[in-house]
Amino acid sequence: MNYLTKSLYMSGQQCPRILWFSSRNQLPELSLYDQHKFAQGRELEKYVKKLFPDGTDLGNLEHGENIKETQNLISKSKTIFEASMVYKNLFFKGDILECSSDGWNLYEIKASTEVKKEHIPDLAFQKFVCEKSGINIKKCFIKYINKEYIKRNSIDPIDLVLKEDVTEKVNQVKNVEENSEEYIRIIEQGNPPEILISKNCNNPYVCPLKKACWGNLPEYHVLQLTDWRKYWELFEDGILDIKDIPKNVKLSLKDQLIKKAVDENKILITKDKISDFLKDLQYPLYYFDFETFDTAIPIFNQSKPYQKIPFQYSLHIQDENNKVNHLDFLAQGEKDPRPSLLRKLKNEIGKTGDIIVYHKSFEIGILKDLARDFPENKDWIENMIDRIIDLEEPFKKLYYYHPKQKGKTSLKVVLPAITGKDYSEDNRDRYLFYFKKLG
Ligand code: SF4
Repeated sequence: MNYLTKSLYMSGQQCPRILWFSSRNQLPELSLYDQHKFAQGRELEKYVKKLFPDGTDLGNLEHGENIKETQNLISKSKTIFEASMVYKNLFFKGDILECSSDGWNLYEIKASTEVKKEHIPDLAFQKFVCEKSGINIKKCFIKYINKEYIKRNSIDPIDLVLKEDVTEKVNQVKNVEENSEEYIRIIEQGNPPEILISKNCNNPYVCPLKKACWGNLPEYHVLQLTDWRKYWELFEDGILDIKDIPKNVKLSLKDQLIKKAVDENKILITKDKISDFLKDLQYPLYYFDFETFDTAIPIFNQSKPYQKIPFQYSLHIQDENNKVNHLDFLAQGEKDPRPSLLRKLKNEIGKTGDIIVYHKSFEIGILKDLARDFPENKDWIENMIDRIIDLEEPFKKLYYYHPKQKGKTSLKVVLPAITGKDYSEDNRDRYLFYFKKLG
């Protein structure tokens, strides 16, 4: 018999094709980044469980034993972590089943900083299975992360974790049985369902099968345009190739340029605009870039959940004679890298001259956090922020556009388009390497 687990049910909510592959364990392997995200969720669970000191954890029990012990503990009115329940061929292992004076409550733990609409069907499925198994659910809650929490010495789960009552929203979901029957039928069919790509490919999660499904699109397809309403409209009208967009279709100015670059297969350069951008630059120029990592549970004092902690920077200083000097910082050891980073940066960043970054909101956000968390550095950090120039701007405004950018302006696409060199995943690897050392 094929079981429909909670995670398969959630796959089915996004796309029947993900469900089919997932039920056969045929989804591509998780990236290191996704593995890190899941590990963050498990880390949070440890803190949430501390809020239920009387709970019994069944997480280590094997499937059949867990189901039996869940029934045993329910009969004794005990709160259970990782309780498993089966109804016909529907199965779930839930985060917390709480026995309160009012009855049974379900809690789902999410390592997000807000309650999202995709959390609701997850609880609706659990509630359905519970109730069909004779356990009446009074309330449903999401436990999630307080993004304003600031670590001071040890982690305090009472302040770290927030709770939202989503009972009403869960009660409004009426189609669990119908969906489940449909999903079981899909799992049992011999071939994967053929599904047209849609907004669901990125929503609520970037689909792990996207590379394969989207790989069949033309090289320059309409989903590379910048106006998403227009591109889905074109796509749904069966216009897939940018070259096939009829002349009478009104496109935004940016999308007209993207189409022109594709139609004429040439790089578009607006030299006077680029000259204007360059002529105002104040020397010496500081080419600056942070590398960061973030964790759901803050590691260092004076930091928040998911705060980007800089552990490396790269600084190239170019004088008016085009002489370039390279300086950098890489954190050593396991302690908070920010104080030593700030000491070095303060010495190396001069008081005048433009600071060139790529995608300025990233660097500015980190500098603002540093000024807030280490206020003795506020003045010189603010001076740095005032001098920031975003090198992405000319690309965002399409003063330079290479068809190979395929509508994007991130460094990952601009660098290979201009230089022909590959932009490897080095940055991500460095970040993960550092995170692993922190353990
Ligand atoms: S890429 Fe889109 S169509 Fe393909 S499986 Fe994923 S969600 Fe479904």
